[in-house]
Amino acid sequence: MKIIKLTTYRVPPRWMLLKIETDEGIVGWGEPVIEGRARTVEAAVHEMTPFLIGQDPGRINDLWQAMYRGGFYRGGAILMSAIAGIDQALWDIKGKLLGVPVYDLLGGRVRDKMKMYSWVGGDRPSDVIAGIRKLRAVGIDTFKMNGTEEMRMLDSARAVDQAVGRIAEIREAFGNEIEFGIDFHGRVAAPMAKVLLRALEPYRPLFVEEPVLAEQAEYYPRLAESTSIPLAAGERMYSRFEFKRVLEQGGLAILQPDLSHAGGITECVKIAAMAEAYDVAVAPHCPLGPVALAACLHLDFVSHNAVLQEQSMGIHYNQGAELLDYVKNKDDFRMEGGYIAALTKPGLGVEVDEERVIEASKNAPDWRNPLWRHEDGSVAEW
Ligand SMILES: [Mg+2]
Repeated sequence: MKIIKLTTYRVPPRWMLLKIETDEGIVGWGEPVIEGRARTVEAAVHEMTPFLIGQDPGRINDLWQAMYRGGFYRGGAILMSAIAGIDQALWDIKGKLLGVPVYDLLGGRVRDKMKMYSWVGGDRPSDVIAGIRKLRAVGIDTFKMNGTEEMRMLDSARAVDQAVGRIAEIREAFGNEIEFGIDFHGRVAAPMAKVLLRALEPYRPLFVEEPVLAEQAEYYPRLAESTSIPLAAGERMYSRFEFKRVLEQGGLAILQPDLSHAGGITECVKIAAMAEAYDVAVAPHCPLGPVALAACLHLDFVSHNAVLQEQSMGIHYNQGAELLDYVKNKDDFRMEGGYIAALTKPGLGVEVDEERVIEASKNAPDWRNPLWRHEDGSVAEW
């Protein structure tokens, strides 16, 4: 079998789908994207295309190594996201060729169903309680929300009280009926991270995500020493070679590789295995579309240390399209009691509604995250 064609479709809300065609008629889908830089990742996919045309799609490991090592310069958000989407499509093709789901190609399932969680609230963490109520009604009991708005390197007691007060209200409203993680979103610098973690401790969040930015990862072990809250990070780390450093130094309880950013299924299965050796859990990052989510689920179903799966239904970023809009087999993604069952169709298990994708790609917006500024005019982390 040979790869004959790669086609990319940028679609609302901020995603990109990749279709890889073969000379035997089997087609694979991937989702190579970095939110806000879809066109740049698209260019990277097209730069890799001449190498891929004519190759045997079944040699996923070799193609991965060639895409990663063959270009001399490697790694980073753009190149690893391009590889990620191509890798997902190759696994989809292999599964369809052999007539089995990807998790069977990876040795088979370790669990029957996977625990899912939902984003609640928007960029600015207000109206969270109403959002939780709505999702509770459809059986979801585990959530994630933004912890703060802009936070200066040294901020006021008022800003801290505001952030903590919101979390206190949630615990008060729902008690232990729900669980939630709090995303600092890289908005908090090390001096305030310590203060906030201590103040949030009584409300027992499941985890705090990106307590500081990944580029300040040396703080993870120090912050972990100062709090009992499990710390999570990984959406802005792109390969084993980055994750090995945070595993070696300790501090993180949960790794959150993104299957569309960190080299795809091939790479993230290895990252999860490395984490297992350190007694670190995995909760794949996925505020993206259906192919990315399916790729995550295949990892979850073969990784003993996978504890939670993010999914983007109803997320505030989904303006103009929802998670299952481009999926024909919507029922396969139905959550029950906050869990999702293993996808059973061959390959990734997503039947992409190609007509709808083509139509939507004609007017794809260029999604950009907002640029925030502090009161004094300086740039704030979003
Ligand atoms: Mg995050």
